[in-house]
Amino acid sequence: MKFFYDMHIHSDLSPCGNDDMTPNNIVNMSFIKGLNIISVTDHNTAENLPAIFKLCEKEGIKAIPGIEVTTKEEVHVLCYFKNLNYAMKFGKIIYDSLPDTENIPSIFGCQNIYNINDEITGVLNKLLINASDYSLNEICNMANNYHGIVVPAHINKKSNGILGVLGFIPTELIFNFVEVKSNESFNYKINKNIQILKNSDAHKLTDISEAENFLELNDIEDIYDYLKIL
Ligand SMILES: [Zn+2]
Ligand SMILES: [Zn+2]
Repeated sequence: MKFFYDMHIHSDLSPCGNDDMTPNNIVNMSFIKGLNIISVTDHNTAENLPAIFKLCEKEGIKAIPGIEVTTKEEVHVLCYFKNLNYAMKFGKIIYDSLPDTENIPSIFGCQNIYNINDEITGVLNKLLINASDYSLNEICNMANNYHGIVVPAHINKKSNGILGVLGFIPTELIFNFVEVKSNESFNYKINKNIQILKNSDAHKLTDISEAENFLELNDIEDIYDYLKIL
């Protein structure tokens, strides 16, 4: 069966995410667009995932717990987890490792935490777009300890893509997937064992993917195993 996905969406918790990227708006827009699987992957935190999860459950959308981590080298990687609990724990470790630079909402944007009624229940003070204190290698090892799956993000983007930053994909790190930003060109030859995910990296509602990128699965619940082991 085909399941349409968008596994890279930012909420209003990411400073660069629009103010209307609230849990209800994201989930409702994903439903309208006909998506079956979504992942909200904020920069270096998982704090909006509990609300996203409850709302997805209500709408019959499968939510994959995810975070977009900035490694020490300034490479963006998506980390996907088997359950919310692992994602929350991992998110806290990453957030704690961020430098103590305070966010200035008027310059960088708000970093709001929401409940299922789209009410703001908290704010994260440390600037989330800074790099974590962990190298790419360390992030891969740590994610593995939490049964996480690491997918280099927007590898065809110059800034913060693994190719733009390092110039290559380290062969000692085993990636089953890399992410390519749907609307940007790509001509780097990747290892044939690596599959490609196409996500929106949406920071505003209208940018969330249409039902166009899909995975063939017997059951939607197989998605984690599909990403974990080919
Ligand atoms: Zn990114
Ligand atoms: Zn992103």
